[in-house]
Amino acid sequence: MDAGMNDVLIVGAGPVGAVCALALRQQGVVARVLEAQPADARADTRILALSHGSRLILDRLGVWDTIADVTPITRIHISQRGALGATRLDAEEINVPALGYVLPYAALTLALKQALADARIDVDYGVTVERIEPGAASAALHTVDGRALTASLVVVADGGRGDAAPAPKFERDYNQMAVVCEVWTELPHANRAYERFTPQGPAALLPKGDHYALVWTASTADAQRIAALSDDEFLAALYRHVGGRQGLFLRASPRKTFPLRLAYTGSEAADRVVRIGNAAQILHPVSGQGFNIGLRDAWELANLCGDTARGEIGNAAMLAAYARGRRLDVLGGLGFTDFLVRMFSNDIAPLRHTRGLGLMALEVLPPLKTFVARRMIFGARG
Ligand SMILES: Cc1cc2nc3c(=O)[nH]c(=O)nc-3n(C[C@H](O)[C@H](O)[C@H](O)COP(=O)(O)OP(=O)(O)OC[C@H]3O[C@@H](n4cnc5c(N)ncnc54)[C@H](O)[C@@H]3O)c2cc1C
Repeated sequence: MDAGMNDVLIVGAGPVGAVCALALRQQGVVARVLEAQPADARADTRILALSHGSRLILDRLGVWDTIADVTPITRIHISQRGALGATRLDAEEINVPALGYVLPYAALTLALKQALADARIDVDYGVTVERIEPGAASAALHTVDGRALTASLVVVADGGRGDAAPAPKFERDYNQMAVVCEVWTELPHANRAYERFTPQGPAALLPKGDHYALVWTASTADAQRIAALSDDEFLAALYRHVGGRQGLFLRASPRKTFPLRLAYTGSEAADRVVRIGNAAQILHPVSGQGFNIGLRDAWELANLCGDTARGEIGNAAMLAAYARGRRLDVLGGLGFTDFLVRMFSNDIAPLRHTRGLGLMALEVLPPLKTFVARRMIFGARG
């Protein structure tokens, strides 16, 4: 290996790239990270839902206890509008302390940034990668400011935003958008989340601090209309949409929208480049799978690098083993999420009843319910 060559270069210090760098460090593998944003950039206001499995990863990296503003979800109530059938998932039934956790993206990235600094991992902030050149012996990375770096393995964790991203192998535009904001209700949430399926798309209320984070999905046209409503009109529309289990909606933060799609680029990497997190797959947020799959990508890749001799890191055999190892979890999560979106986002009467029966079956068949819950918490190996 030539002296100037890095073992691993990671493009992007978002949650997935940062977790990958920290997990590699635990495995004794040195990684250098390049991040387009400056070190003092403030992350946006998006809210994430982390599974218990993701918490375990962050625990093992010593990051979990340093994250501010985490709200556990101990119960989830799942229902559909205009039909019978509902189910409840309870952390105690699955034997985990919480089914998931709600936290601000900004709080997670701040804790990870500190962990990267504490671990003395080199992060070049304010450096945008323009182009990646794969190669049999090493991959080269070209930055906007004219530098070229080489590595045995380049890990692309840029959230799928790089201009040079390959075309997805599979893509579905749901023609839906998510309207996201925070809402305050009359009654306390008691750590219960609500997932409500409606013909227009699913809506989720996630406990956050003393209130809720809302993810309301709707057709693109409806979402734009909903986001433009006045506060009073919005609160009344939300009550009609999700019902009044939490009493009245009292207040809402400004609404934001983002488009929803499925894009599977995959990690069937060759030539010393691998894609992880949102750079490899983008999922609809309905089942909260996308982000958690991304963290498992990072964790599994780092472990595999740790099990691989230094001179073999990034070679075709290692990357093929990585792609093989991730296929079941990733495609399972994609299929599960896509099924939920398409099954529930319509108003065909026979389907409506089938869905009601499905939810009731989950309620009366505890092994099936536990299976579905563990799938959501731990992925394919749940
Ligand atoms: C607008 C929006 C809203 C979302 N809202 C939610 C939500 O409410 N709930 C939820 O669960 N999920 C949400 N998601 C999805 C969630 O944010 C992702 O699953 C998660 O952030 C993926 O992590 P990541 O590290 O793969 O990518 P990212 O978090 O996108 O991080 C990628 C990092 O790479 C850097 N980067 C990009 N290009 C380059 C480059 N060329 N060179 C160097 N660095 C680069 C970026 O600056 C960034 O720091 C949302 C996504 C978007 C886009």
